[in-house]
Amino acid sequence: MLCLRRRRRGGLMGEKGYTFFMMDESSFIFGVDLDGVVGDFYGIMREITAEWLHKPVESLTREVGYGLDEWGVAEYGGYDRLHRFAVTQRSLFRDMKPIAGAPVALRRLSNRGVRIRIITHRIFLKYFHKTSITQTVDWLDSYDIPYWDLCFMNDKGAVGAHVYIDDAPANIIDLRGQGCRTIVFTNSTNRHLPGPRADRWEEVEEMVMEALAEWVGRRRGDGSFGKRA
Ligand SMILES: [Mg+2]
Repeated sequence: MLCLRRRRRGGLMGEKGYTFFMMDESSFIFGVDLDGVVGDFYGIMREITAEWLHKPVESLTREVGYGLDEWGVAEYGGYDRLHRFAVTQRSLFRDMKPIAGAPVALRRLSNRGVRIRIITHRIFLKYFHKTSITQTVDWLDSYDIPYWDLCFMNDKGAVGAHVYIDDAPANIIDLRGQGCRTIVFTNSTNRHLPGPRADRWEEVEEMVMEALAEWVGRRRGDGSFGKRA
């Protein structure tokens, strides 16, 4: 786990040196996945994969599942090999286009006091972490995507958030299993999952604002609203 934070707050150092997060109740935290949610991961991967496989891009279906098995990458070394090529040779995380409306919605939410906590599993393969992290930070800056925390980790529930958004079925099931309020951002990998879900960022924004209003209401109810943690 690697977690970059703008300032130290709400963290405890555990016995083995890991940082544990306490839920910071002084602000409303929105846990945001990047690939397939804020960035058009499947769009750029379709183009890179077509080149890698030497196939016309039109021959690769847009209706893929998590792992891209439909594109037949297994016989060329599998997803991990494709991923390494995409990041290190085609700047996957720097050249990805944002999902329509995502950066501006996040700017509006941030401006309304929502604390954006980005949580991504982009460094799951060894030996090019620096490249992945650098591309990610450059990309976030280049689209003026606001964030307070940037966490590179798999267990997304281990960092607290009042509401999460993700597209990967395993993450969504895992987060919901931990009792975390999680919005599905719709793509071909997750249509089988129950809601709450959003097809567009305008819907995400509404759902997060509803969750924020509920959180403010609860804090007013217990008398903690307006107090600093
Ligand atoms: Mg994702």
